[in-house]
Amino acid sequence: MYKEHYPLLNHNSFGIESYADYFFEFCEVSELDEFLLEQTLNTNNIFILGKGCNVLFTKDFEGLIIHPNNNGIDITYEDDKSIEIKVQSGEDWDEFVEFTVSNSWYGLENLSLIPGSVGAAPVQNIGAYGVEVRDYIVSVECVEIGTGKHFVLSNRECCFDYRNSVFKNELKNKCVIVAVSFKLSKIPVININYTELKNKLQKDKNIDVRKIRNAICEIRNSKLPDPEKIGNVGSFFKNPIISDNDYQVLLKNFPDIVGYKIDNKNVKLAAGWLIDKCGWKAYSENGVGVHENQALVLINKGTKSGNNVLNLAQKIRTGVLNKFGVYMEFEVNIL
Ligand SMILES: Cc1cc2nc3c(=O)[nH]c(=O)nc-3n(C[C@H](O)[C@H](O)[C@H](O)COP(=O)(O)OP(=O)(O)OC[C@H]3O[C@@H](n4cnc5c(N)ncnc54)[C@H](O)[C@@H]3O)c2cc1C
Repeated sequence: MYKEHYPLLNHNSFGIESYADYFFEFCEVSELDEFLLEQTLNTNNIFILGKGCNVLFTKDFEGLIIHPNNNGIDITYEDDKSIEIKVQSGEDWDEFVEFTVSNSWYGLENLSLIPGSVGAAPVQNIGAYGVEVRDYIVSVECVEIGTGKHFVLSNRECCFDYRNSVFKNELKNKCVIVAVSFKLSKIPVININYTELKNKLQKDKNIDVRKIRNAICEIRNSKLPDPEKIGNVGSFFKNPIISDNDYQVLLKNFPDIVGYKIDNKNVKLAAGWLIDKCGWKAYSENGVGVHENQALVLINKGTKSGNNVLNLAQKIRTGVLNKFGVYMEFEVNIL
């Protein structure tokens, strides 16, 4: 499907009103191949849009949006202990996680209920409750937009990092991810190290993949607003990573600051705590609010303008910088 002046209101989870000059959606990868071959792109401005759960439109998009809507799940390898599955990029992430859980395959259950498409999962290396998707990705299949060439990147070639990958850097908007291959375990491998999860499940002697998924869904539903009901993009900011030396200085001034050592030299700070301590929790202005249970999440309280959201996010960022000397990067893609 190819359209001009296409409305994006139903294509972003914040519920922002915006239009794309050109919009191309494909249900089969061959449609994308044909489009790239035939189309003389009259724009260099291209953006690949999944389900728009990590995107904030601040103006109309003057260019071409490519929207993968290709579906399918294939088993590519299987033995007694593990299974490899190739999943088309337009599949819904949580429906895919449910599919793996219903088959008793272990690996992705901690990433339950993250909204979005399978194709976007490698882009920011989605993570939650002590797990990152990079731990289960074998390879990522892509189509280069400029040439129409297909290529496959191994896990290592994806350069995964905290909420980061090659797709947010060198390959940003240069290639469309059309499929992702995962390796999951048929043997129980349980990760309930995350405190809230441990508290819920540690007394259970028969923990299984279904119980973990249910517990994660319960925790998430109690804390995070459902984007179907209240527009939001999840965490608006990344948790800042600072040196241990800087952390020790902050600890002297703010003894209850929340941080987690990620290696010998660096500490990840809880951005939600920093925002909360600046007094932003439950604040709202111009139809945008800070969520009352989780200060990292900005919510739509009636605005249709992405700029209202961006303005509040910038104020929060400046407030945190002034109080703690810590700069918070946006996790969301601002367009
Ligand atoms: C309520 C809520 C909770 C959330 N919780 C979490 C969480 O716990 N952990 C977490 O990591 N994230 C979380 N997120 C963020 C979001 O769900 C993820 O980033 C998700 O992967 C976005 O998927 P999407 O299809 O909506 O991608 P989009 O928002 O459409 O796109 C995100 C980025 O991926 C690129 N992209 C998308 N599809 C493709 C493709 N096929 N090929 C190439 N590039 C592509 C886009 O260009 C863009 O840069 C949350 C969001 C919400 C609304």
